[in-house]
Amino acid sequence: MCESVNAAFQEFRQGSYYNVLLSYANRMQKIFFERRKAHEDLIASGKWAPPNVAKMMKEMMAKASNLVVNPATYQSCIVQQPTSADQVRVDFNLDECTCGEFQEFKFPCAHAAACIKRCVKDLHPGEFGTDFKHVVDPVYTAEQMLYAYERPIYSVGNIILHNFV
Ligand SMILES: [Zn+2]
Repeated sequence: MCESVNAAFQEFRQGSYYNVLLSYANRMQKIFFERRKAHEDLIASGKWAPPNVAKMMKEMMAKASNLVVNPATYQSCIVQQPTSADQVRVDFNLDECTCGEFQEFKFPCAHAAACIKRCVKDLHPGEFGTDFKHVVDPVYTAEQMLYAYERPIYSVGNIILHNFV
């Protein structure tokens, strides 16, 4: 992180501290504005998943494609590889999988994705994205990302107000 900040502001480091601070504030204002706008547009278009989360969902569904799902109870499934006897149990009541990944990242692992895929395919065709949203942590949503970039970055202000020139 520090190296990234240093690299981004290398060209300004020969100036005064005020200029470094000013350029940092200006860049952060621009980044926050662009990200806020991107997530506002996404929400306005009716999508809940930012592009990186949509990509994660697609990747997880690809990993889930060859898994065998056997419903165990109303809220849980047993999942296994077609060529292995190893099994895991996915519990949607607790949003957990015995592999540990689902509860660790609060995002469906391949096993949970396989269960969702089966459930959606059998019960609610075409509603995959909606079902995924019910089991991811809100931190993955566009609404939460918008909240993260909602507050503006204020300008540095007049140089006279600072004592570090
Ligand atoms: Zn799992």
